[in-house]
Amino acid sequence: TNKNYPHRIYQPEDTSYRHHGIIFKDIFSVLLEPRLFRNLMAVLEERVRKMCPGVQAVVGLESRGFLIGTPLALALDIPFVPIRKKGKLPGKVKQVSYTLEYGTDVFEAQESSIKKGQKVVILDDLLATGGTMKAACDLITAMGGEVLLCLVCIELLDLKGCEKFSHPFDAVVKFS
Ligand code: 5GP
Repeated sequence: TNKNYPHRIYQPEDTSYRHHGIIFKDIFSVLLEPRLFRNLMAVLEERVRKMCPGVQAVVGLESRGFLIGTPLALALDIPFVPIRKKGKLPGKVKQVSYTLEYGTDVFEAQESSIKKGQKVVILDDLLATGGTMKAACDLITAMGGEVLLCLVCIELLDLKGCEKFSHPFDAVVKFS
């Protein structure tokens, strides 16, 4: 049991923990191991280089998307653009509302962070129902960006999240 989250039963060996009755998959056990973290980053970089030549920015989704998105952007030598929950980014922002498993939320990006026609890859740790990734695609598209690829470390296949959006999609690990 994690003492900070006593209601979660953490099982690093299978990257899962239980949170209010839901089994969560997680990348944090990978981040504990520099060798695994480095391998994960190498796989992500290889996929982006292969699947989207000419990519001009990495868009990372709050918050686990930041952990893998920033090193990926550095490795590719392109900008990192954060998408955050409402009210957290300074300056002028563009917004999109989206529906989650439990209610609605608002995503924001800084207005000047995406240029017209800019080719981006959107990165997150995990795809579940796909609502979060769809919202990110909608926001980037509304800002004039072009989504070349939606990329995640983990896809929960049974939830069919990738059917929610039409952009190219890839996942490093798929669970069903
Ligand atoms: P979706 O919108 O696809 O249902 O949910 C994906 C978003 O919620 C991602 O940003 C992800 O971090 C978070 N999320 C949903 N389910 C899980 C899960 O089982 N494990 C983890 N780590 N994150 C999840």
